[in-house]
Amino acid sequence: MFTLINGYTIIVTGGSKGIGRGIATAFAKQGANVMIAARDIQTATHTINELQQYSGQVEFYQCDVSDWQSVSNLINHTVKTFGQLDVMCANAGSYPMQSIEQMSPDDWDSILENNLKSSFMCVKAAMPHLAQSGHGRVILTSSITGAMTGVPGFSHYGASKAGQLGFMRTAAMELARHKITVNAILPGNIYTEGLKDLGQDYLDAMAAAIPLKRIGDVEDIGNTALFLASKEAAYITGQSIVVDGGQTLPESLGALEDC
Ligand code: NAP
Repeated sequence: MFTLINGYTIIVTGGSKGIGRGIATAFAKQGANVMIAARDIQTATHTINELQQYSGQVEFYQCDVSDWQSVSNLINHTVKTFGQLDVMCANAGSYPMQSIEQMSPDDWDSILENNLKSSFMCVKAAMPHLAQSGHGRVILTSSITGAMTGVPGFSHYGASKAGQLGFMRTAAMELARHKITVNAILPGNIYTEGLKDLGQDYLDAMAAAIPLKRIGDVEDIGNTALFLASKEAAYITGQSIVVDGGQTLPESLGALEDC
């Protein structure tokens, strides 16, 4: 049984849907104060209303994580609302599929800013408050894509997700003096709203390529984040936790068929 985190304050960027919503839900269920940050108010309102059933207080702040002033305002608003900040989940990200041939230099910059520069800016703005909490946590949502595997069409995305890990290792060292840990979760294929549109045949093929024979749930990622935020995880820093049902394990199709 892990020490409860009720009363903690957590920010989840991209908490309005998908994996971020899974993380926000896991913390709200445990009685944490959750600030959800995203751009679209309508989607966020729907999520906030749904999360009111849990014991934690859940609020929304409209924020664009690729903009420094917006990230700064998010942190200040959160501390003003809840009085503290204990956990920063830099989860927001986007993954448009584009081959290198189709991709313009501006397309590249836009994904690197949205997924990688945003992680740096979230950490920079949150640092003083996480230090003050005495048990600060940074949890980055990276991916197996780029960090461990390659997928055609995701060169910019893969670079941003691998880049998060490079940033994380040095950030973990710089923030250690403030007793803040910095870790990353590397999800495999997780069942989010976007995946539903791909059709059952596609989803079945995806699941068949995973040793545990199912696509991950957002709860799988939420629970991992919860563990990293717990007191019991206080000695883990600068690490990547792969949550992929074994997707990156098989070294050949034959090995997968034997699972
Ligand atoms: P999603 O369902 O598309 O949700 C993305 C979230 O991020 C939304 O809340 C979106 O809200 C927010 N967001 C995107 N850009 C933003 C910006 N500039 N400022 C503020 N909020 C922004 O995506 P997801 O699949 O849950 O992915 C979440 C994270 O998990 C990403 O970092 C992704 O790389 C990673 N991941 C996902 C999977 C997977 O299988 N789904 C696998 C590995 C890693 P608004 O659009 O309203 O801003």
